[in-house]
Amino acid sequence: MPPPCHPQPPRASGAAPVARRVALPGAALILAVLPGAALAQACATGAGIAADGRVLGHLPYGDIDAATLVEVPGFGLRAPCRVRAEVAADLARLVAAAAADPAGGTLRGVSCHRSMARQSGVFCREGATEAADRAISVAPPGHSEHTSGYAVDFAVRPSPNCPDVEACMAILPAARWLRANAPRYGFELSFPPGNGQGVKWEPWHWRWVGTRADAPGAAAARFVFAAARRRFPADPAIVAPPRVVATITPPAPPPPPPPSPGNHRR
Ligand SMILES: [Zn+2]
Repeated sequence: MPPPCHPQPPRASGAAPVARRVALPGAALILAVLPGAALAQACATGAGIAADGRVLGHLPYGDIDAATLVEVPGFGLRAPCRVRAEVAADLARLVAAAAADPAGGTLRGVSCHRSMARQSGVFCREGATEAADRAISVAPPGHSEHTSGYAVDFAVRPSPNCPDVEACMAILPAARWLRANAPRYGFELSFPPGNGQGVKWEPWHWRWVGTRADAPGAAAARFVFAAARRRFPADPAIVAPPRVVATITPPAPPPPPPPSPGNHRR
């Protein structure tokens, strides 16, 4: 069974546009102002939007114009993997490093950018469990890191008979390699075990924030994830080096006093 956050193939009929499910007057205005939150409201069966924008524990994230994304060649397992260009560069380097390392191996991706509509299709499947239960492992539309174009789900699969998907995956060589090396390529684990956000441990889900704050695109990524990183730290995480406010050169020691004439011996 694939990890729960991985999207299932779309239904034959496709996900119904959520806007059509919103019958309240003024819904169009709400959709225009808060598209993600409104979409989540539409299929979350009454789940409200918290003061900090969270829905069922998930922070809000906007969608990105898919035309601005680039594909990581050969990485997508079932479909092309598209992410932001700055993410693609580091992801390609990470994949190449894993392939060259006997401890790593071939890394593939099962899910990269997801459109808002795609995320809605994943979360709002008919016949699914209660929204609050689904939200433990699936973000409501408008609240998934995948719509930002910065997140990647690696296809590291445990055996089908594994009773604990997360734990079984985490001990596989590829997952261990990711944990040890992904931060060197700008990726951090969004939802570690026991995370304060209340999201299920997802050892396959990594978001890109750049190796350094001044790396191309890193400032924008860190702005997008600022609340998540401050309130619910990733682990492993990209940790900023301590800031050096000033460097002070210690003063040279004073010269030794000249010999006193009275101390001369004859
Ligand atoms: Zn994911």
